[in-house]
Amino acid sequence: MRAQIEVLAALQIIDREIREHAAVKQGLLGELQEKQRLIQERKQEIEALTAACAVKEKLRLEKDKLLHDESQKATDKRMRMNRIKNVKELQALQREIDQIRQTNSEAEEELLNIMVEIDGLKGEIKAKQETLLAAQQDWQQKQEGLQAQIAGIEQAVDKASIGRQRIAQEIDASLMSRYELIFSRRGGSAVVEVAAGICQGCYMNIPPQLWNEIIRSEKLNLCPSCQRILHYKAPEGQEKTA
Ligand SMILES: [Zn+2]
Repeated sequence: MRAQIEVLAALQIIDREIREHAAVKQGLLGELQEKQRLIQERKQEIEALTAACAVKEKLRLEKDKLLHDESQKATDKRMRMNRIKNVKELQALQREIDQIRQTNSEAEEELLNIMVEIDGLKGEIKAKQETLLAAQQDWQQKQEGLQAQIAGIEQAVDKASIGRQRIAQEIDASLMSRYELIFSRRGGSAVVEVAAGICQGCYMNIPPQLWNEIIRSEKLNLCPSCQRILHYKAPEGQEKTA
């Protein structure tokens, strides 16, 4: 059994390497996705702002036309005043003209506000476009490098996997599946050394009876507190074979 666990410990070194590679790759992929997400987000923001701007532009044109039409009406009424001699009619017409002026002055105010809003939106769009451009340039600069790093990691993992396969052949199938289960549940640490009666996985004391069994290394021993596979390295010259 000791020989099996020695092999398992060697396998674990490779598995940890693969696991670390996977974590780094995940991080790089995350970085790539984040950059794409930022670009996408800026684009959507620009689209939304552009749509809002278009709505305001439409409103501006409507107000502009209204103002123009009403001014025209006021002008027409003023022309008519020249032909009217009746005082009451003149007064009524004057009131209508005053009303139009009042309405127009309010419309002008609104128009000014709309124009300010449009300017604001255009400014926001411009700023977003600049950040979009920066995000796109960042993507162009870093994307290739990140992808090359990922490819390098994949190659290293492939290479490690070949070595792993060779070692895995030497391990009993049921021990292997047990190991794999512990490895994934215990964060990449399934085989741990036991030194001076202490499990190096969880640093708990191993009961004396178990300790004796471990030294004999005749069977598979798990740590009673963390359930990892215990690996005992006999001091030099005192090796026992099991
Ligand atoms: Zn333990």
